[in-house]
Amino acid sequence: MARLVHFAAAVREDGGVLPMCRVLSLLNFSARPINMRVATWTNRREAVSCKACLLKLKRIDATEAKEGK
Ligand SMILES: [Zn+2]
Repeated sequence: MARLVHFAAAVREDGGVLPMCRVLSLLNFSARPINMRVATWTNRREAVSCKACLLKLKRIDATEAKEGK
């Protein structure tokens, strides 16, 4: 079975990678890091397979478009 690929939102000081689908904001470092045994991460959007991560990326795009960024 292919491992789930999350979008990496942030990397903690201990090396744990926080997936976009688990962080409510980029300042929320209490989220659980990705379990690298069952999943992995990328920062290339086209390689993301986690649906929750993709949904969040789309929402962020919509917000930035509204703000004119
Ligand atoms: Zn995810």
